[in-house]
Amino acid sequence: MKSFGKIRRIARCFSTTSSCPLRICVVGSGPAGFYTAEKLLKAYQSVEVDIIDRLPTPFGLVRSGVAPDHPETKVVINQFLRVAQNERCSFFGNVSLGSSVTLLELRNMYNAVVLAYGAESDRSLGIPKEELAGIYAAREFVWWYNGHPDCRSLAPDLKSSDTAVILGQGNVALDVARILLRQIEELARTDIASHALAALEESSIRKVYLVGRRGPVQAACTAKELREILGIKDLGVYIKAADLVTTPADEIEMKNSRIRRRVHELLSKAVTPGCAPVAGQRELHFVFFRKPDMFLESDDKSGHAGGIRLEKTALKGDDESVRQVAVGTGEYEDISCGLALKSIGYKSVAVDGLPFDTYKGIVPNDRGRVLADASCGHVQHDIGLYVCGWLKRGPTGIIGTNLHCAEETISCISDDINRGALASGSTKPGREGLRQVLDSRNTRVVPFDGWGKIDCEERRRGSLKNKPREKLATWEELLEVACR
Ligand code: NAP
Repeated sequence: MKSFGKIRRIARCFSTTSSCPLRICVVGSGPAGFYTAEKLLKAYQSVEVDIIDRLPTPFGLVRSGVAPDHPETKVVINQFLRVAQNERCSFFGNVSLGSSVTLLELRNMYNAVVLAYGAESDRSLGIPKEELAGIYAAREFVWWYNGHPDCRSLAPDLKSSDTAVILGQGNVALDVARILLRQIEELARTDIASHALAALEESSIRKVYLVGRRGPVQAACTAKELREILGIKDLGVYIKAADLVTTPADEIEMKNSRIRRRVHELLSKAVTPGCAPVAGQRELHFVFFRKPDMFLESDDKSGHAGGIRLEKTALKGDDESVRQVAVGTGEYEDISCGLALKSIGYKSVAVDGLPFDTYKGIVPNDRGRVLADASCGHVQHDIGLYVCGWLKRGPTGIIGTNLHCAEETISCISDDINRGALASGSTKPGREGLRQVLDSRNTRVVPFDGWGKIDCEERRRGSLKNKPREKLATWEELLEVACR
């Protein structure tokens, strides 16, 4: 990866030779979008950056993805606020790429377009009865408790059963398990959406199964997040001791990865041999070596999930260079549950005019430069079109990962500027052109001070309930407050 120092040197060179502003549009106001905007504005005195987002609210995953009991992770918003306040930066909220404005229109209006709109869909398991009620993507559940307006009406059934099954063992799975199991008084002090808090207050869920198709060495979560869930007050943690036995291949994996070693250690310490569940206590069961085979319909509630059938697995692949994979053994077992959350990964969605790799769920790119056609054997860049964040590299990594990701993309933009590939000049109307297009379509654009109004109102409502904020969770409310 090129260093940021190089970006600055190129930037200085550009800013002294150009008189016209370079107009760049960033699509998506999550961490990848804001880091991109921040680095561009710092590097180029003559750059104008417009950030568009389909939501009336900025900050993407920081607002809608980060768990409410992780306020420290949201502090990065202060940094993004300073970016948005830069006079060369404008925010256009409630502007949807593809319907409010097309990609082609953006490309005609700006010198460069950086797509950083993340991953707003989900991988599917592709197993029978996945469509039953009571089965959700973890993303939907996360959006629901984080007050995302698209999931305000999700209404997950937390009352008809005492058991939830979560498929996948990554950090998102741990987040949703923690929200289901955590003491309600602790959640009440967070910015969790009030509809979710009310539903969790009445929840009958006492048992959560976290199901992994591989073993404890391969669990995708990280040690800090695992330690946190294991430390929940009055929680019984159950792991079969036999599952913790390691093979030589596991030992190699642990030798090569400190995280894998720490995760295995923490899980091993969490086992209490011979410990039977205590009546009334909440339970977290780690289930390893089981892959989802099919969902089971409830006997009492037609069309509703009543459980899941899992196939036992064994791991294959003991070559150090090959990832161990779970292979079905033909043995099955069922777990009854009223709620099932699929936490097997997010997926990006394509827009018209954008090359898209449906298998990987990303835009084919070369370090952030969109590839015009990757099939013809040689790399051909679509000049002026870039990607950053989950849309570029897939749905992995923490917020900070996007900083390096943005630097890499900007390094490509800098190279393209330097070799004159991104012609700047008065022919690109930038934000004035965008405003005209949006006006002509009667789009209710939410500018950054519209978000300021939402922010004030949420904090005001929060203060009445001793919470940091009470999120406005419907489109109507958000737009009404933003446009006051
Ligand atoms: P993830 O870390 O990739 O975990 C996905 C999980 O789903 C893995 O356990 C994976 O198992 C499993 N899986 C995938 N396909 C499956 C299938 N067909 N059947 C059964 N299981 C399947 O994804 P994530 O949890 O959505 O997290 C996304 C990123 O956000 C991660 O980098 C995560 O660390 C980050 N994040 C961080 C935090 C935090 O720092 N607090 C919080 C939330 C998210 P295999 O390993 O066998 O594929």
